[in-house]
Amino acid sequence: MPRLRHRLSFRVVTLTIILAAMITIVGISGILSLKEFQEDYGKIKGNNFEMLLNMTKLKVQSNEVLTATTDMFLAENKSDLKDINLYIKDRMAWIDQLSEELANRVDNVQELFILKSRLYAQVQVISDEMLKKLALLDALMIEYKKVEEYKHAQIKAGNSNIALMVDNVMSLLNSLDQNSLLSQKKPNAEEVKRLINSMRFSTSEQQYNRLTALFLEKPSLTSAYQNYLSQIQALKILKSESIELSQAVTSVTGEVILTTQKNFLDNLNKIEEKITSRQSDLYLLMFVSFLITSLLVFLQIDFLRRVHLIRQVIEAGDAKSQFQIPIKGRDEISEMAKSVKKYIDEILEKEQQVSETNKKLEHLAMHDGLTNIYNRRYFDAKLEQEHLRYLRYKESYCLAMLDLDLFKNINDTYGHDIGDKVLVEFTTRVTKQLRETDLFARLGGEEFGLLMPQTCEHNAMKLMERIRSNVDSFPFLINDFSINFSVSIGLVEVQELDDMHDVLKQLSLADKALYEAKNTGRNRIEIYQGEPLIAHQRA
Ligand code: GH3
Ligand code: MG
Ligand code: MG
Repeated sequence: MPRLRHRLSFRVVTLTIILAAMITIVGISGILSLKEFQEDYGKIKGNNFEMLLNMTKLKVQSNEVLTATTDMFLAENKSDLKDINLYIKDRMAWIDQLSEELANRVDNVQELFILKSRLYAQVQVISDEMLKKLALLDALMIEYKKVEEYKHAQIKAGNSNIALMVDNVMSLLNSLDQNSLLSQKKPNAEEVKRLINSMRFSTSEQQYNRLTALFLEKPSLTSAYQNYLSQIQALKILKSESIELSQAVTSVTGEVILTTQKNFLDNLNKIEEKITSRQSDLYLLMFVSFLITSLLVFLQIDFLRRVHLIRQVIEAGDAKSQFQIPIKGRDEISEMAKSVKKYIDEILEKEQQVSETNKKLEHLAMHDGLTNIYNRRYFDAKLEQEHLRYLRYKESYCLAMLDLDLFKNINDTYGHDIGDKVLVEFTTRVTKQLRETDLFARLGGEEFGLLMPQTCEHNAMKLMERIRSNVDSFPFLINDFSINFSVSIGLVEVQELDDMHDVLKQLSLADKALYEAKNTGRNRIEIYQGEPLIAHQRA
């Protein structure tokens, strides 16, 4: 990691990665959530519709079974009943299949199963009761036929009164066709008994017994009829129970449908709640992403600002601007800034050294190494300058050449080192005498030049005299030696010559004067004023 930090700006890289990760998380979680909700919704919707369809089918099949039981009540023979039973069995197979499918998916399945068994039991009871009814009807028909046969036999035998009595009794039992029977009251056995008893004394004992057997014994038409009627009564009750069951089917299946709908809505609400909470999570994530993006942008701006500053500092490259370099952090930019600062510091230090060296060189170029007064080169340059001024403004100047007298002897007597010190002491003394505008220089060996700008010969002469007499009057005290010596001076005020631009000519005139001073005894000042030279000797 530290290596990475040094290669790139660590914060910027890290935050870019975090930002990318956040955006990816927001995107992926958004897509996943949407997919999840779609799947949930699809599942719930599919489940609900399938269940509602099954419930409706269940309701229809149950009602069809109940409708078929009505047909059962109307069945006129066993074969009809068998057909209806087969049809019902088919419906029941449907109901079983649907119940199985619903078993794990609806809350009130128990209720549905109870209803189912009630339905099946009801079908069984009705079927049994109908079989009983058909059997009773057969028995009734047998008894009826017996009575009919007996009646015909009596008519044939001419016993019309008996045949009439039989008709009367049969009329008491009303019509024997099924439709009429269903709506009849119970036959009145007492009345039948009374009719037969009324015949007891007008008929033979045998006839009487036969009538009793046909109508009052067991089995007899009256008893078969009575049994048949009570079976019809039982079936009537069963019919009303079937209506109740039909209502129960409607209400229970309706309730299940409502519960299913309610569950569907509950599940939808749950999904909606999930969506809302997920939505706020996504908003939060988006907000955090936004903050991080802003931070990143801010850091990028800061990053660029610092790069810009460093560039400015490098371009400016001066000592002041380097303080603007941002070196606080530990990232790559700060490291770079530190390097730049170090580099600038080094350059500035070198610049300082060069400047000092230049100053020294400049000083050396202008000054004499031993006496530290100006050297020949500088003197010549200044002289030229002064001469030009003269040429332009006609402000005259004076020029003097000074040479220590018999200096060789001093060297010979005291040594070269002492000689050097004498030279230094001499320049010190002369310098003290000078004005600021005067320029004193060592021209070589023990020979010196003095340039006195804007100075007339008279004033220059006064100064030369002061110098000469100072050297002459006060011995030089060097290393316990008291050394006496003198100086010869050649002086010239700027002269109008043929070749005015050759300044060295002026110097040669001073030199000439100096030569004259030497020749005429030394410790003198000679002024050049055109030939012949005027000598000024010590007073
Ligand atoms: P004169 O009065 O004719 O000028 O006599 P002089 O001895 O001064 O002249 P000369 O030209 O014969 O000798 C100059 C001497 O100055 C010779 C040399 O040894 C000495 N000299 C020149 N430069 C230096 C220097 O830098 N240091 C020392 N100690 N002596 C120097
Ligand atoms: Mg000399
Ligand atoms: Mg000399």
